[in-house]
Amino acid sequence: MPNASTAALPIEHGVNLRTFNSFGLPATAHTLVRIDSDAALRRVIDHPELGRAPKFILGGGSNIVFTRDPEAVVLKIEVRGLRLVQERPDAWIVEAGAGENWHDTVAWTLAQGWPGLENLALIPGSVGATPVQNIGAYGVELQDRFHSLDVVDLVTGRSVTLDASRCHFAYRDSVFKHDLAGKGVIMRVRFALPRPWRPVLGYLELERKMQETGITAPDARTLFDWVCAIRRAKLPDPAVIGNAGSFFKNPVVSPEQCRDIIGRDPEVVHYPLPDGSVKLAAGWLIDACGWKGKSVGRAGVYEKQALVLVNRGGASGAEVVTLARAIQESVYGRFGIRLEPEPVVV
Ligand SMILES: Cc1cc2nc3c(=O)[nH]c(=O)nc-3n(C[C@H](O)[C@H](O)[C@H](O)COP(=O)(O)OP(=O)(O)OC[C@H]3O[C@@H](n4cnc5c(N)ncnc54)[C@H](O)[C@@H]3O)c2cc1C
Repeated sequence: MPNASTAALPIEHGVNLRTFNSFGLPATAHTLVRIDSDAALRRVIDHPELGRAPKFILGGGSNIVFTRDPEAVVLKIEVRGLRLVQERPDAWIVEAGAGENWHDTVAWTLAQGWPGLENLALIPGSVGATPVQNIGAYGVELQDRFHSLDVVDLVTGRSVTLDASRCHFAYRDSVFKHDLAGKGVIMRVRFALPRPWRPVLGYLELERKMQETGITAPDARTLFDWVCAIRRAKLPDPAVIGNAGSFFKNPVVSPEQCRDIIGRDPEVVHYPLPDGSVKLAAGWLIDACGWKGKSVGRAGVYEKQALVLVNRGGASGAEVVTLARAIQESVYGRFGIRLEPEPVVV
């Protein structure tokens, strides 16, 4: 029986990535290795050829736009495992392998009686990618429930544990999009689920659910069900219509800039932030430029939500990028705001 260090690496060649990205865009990996353990990753790093080659880290492919075949060796992260690490008076500390499905992890923590992740239900993708853009939805960001993570350096093979302060979390951002981009593989993430649990309800669509149902103090399961129902009603299911969720970040502007826009467009959807700046709804800006439902080639803007770009069938990554640029230009032309894409463009 080969042991972990001597077993042959499962190297695959010519792998079609269409089903490995939620946009359903065409691309082929010349080399792909599935990583299910630290030992498997170290064998790639120590490999005479693969060790030196550039690497691309792939989770669930739900925040990626492939415009070409990746030149790098694709590492498909499949590290499994869910466990309770520690029961503290103030929090449950739960650990999940990077390759676990995020939504299933949220559902699992709830089933165990450890709530806290319910507002982040139904976000596609893997656990390992959640810190990369500090995923967020319905008033909760990953950083609000984050404890620590283990990351393996792709050059040295060294494993390091990082706490929140070293991850530099910000709105849809972290150190993994900057200094550590592509440099390390997140292998495990630990979450601190606060005790006692308190619902996070200050989001318009959740307040609407409370009014509709008459439930003013929902439990975590109810909140989970509400978030799933809201998301199913407004976002396209990638299994049916290829997409990567919100295509642009909501831009943050100064109060003066916001006042200027309100002067011209009084209906602009905006949210004042604690630091005095103002977040604008990117979807509203795109809709105001008349893009909802429009297409460029086989890429289009989702009919129900202008922030989501979709694959209308057989689109290429180039078509998606052309559409995204046209939207950026018209939003800049009308509002003077540069929209920044959320997904990673390869
Ligand atoms: C329908 C839909 C709805 C969505 N809604 C939301 C939402 O509400 N909020 C939100 O924040 N996002 C949302 N997203 C975006 C996406 O689901 C998240 O960004 C998710 O965390 C991406 O996970 P993934 O495993 O698919 O990552 P991938 O797309 O595979 O990778 C994304 C980036 O992370 C890197 N990466 C992946 N795994 C690792 C790892 N283990 N170690 C180091 N780097 C890694 C990749 O190299 C890449 O740069 C949505 C997407 C879709 C399709």
